[in-house]
Amino acid sequence: MDNQSRRKFMRNSLIAIAALPLGASLLSQRAFAQELTPLDPSAPQAQALHYVKVAAEASDNASYKEGSKCSGCMFFQEANNGCQLFPQSSVEPEGWCQSWVQKA
Ligand code: SF4
Repeated sequence: MDNQSRRKFMRNSLIAIAALPLGASLLSQRAFAQELTPLDPSAPQAQALHYVKVAAEASDNASYKEGSKCSGCMFFQEANNGCQLFPQSSVEPEGWCQSWVQKA
């Protein structure tokens, strides 16, 4: 291996080593995201916000707006069906709670 090849190899190796923590972080976030358990509507936090798995079931709630559902909410995270208000759980894209705010 000549000096130029050795330098190129060392530079690429250092770049790869520097990128390892970023890759590991992304992988662990993805793994964590897949571990979210579906939000139980009977859980106290869910009941406090009147969460339902099917938005139409909330039609008698004064805060409900026709057509509103989790998938259109600013707190919804499409990547894992997560919700910023229930960080340990996933929510139903067709669900709803009274904290619904239209996605921008
Ligand atoms: S805050 Fe939005 S995404 Fe979360 S449960 Fe309520 S309506 Fe669904």
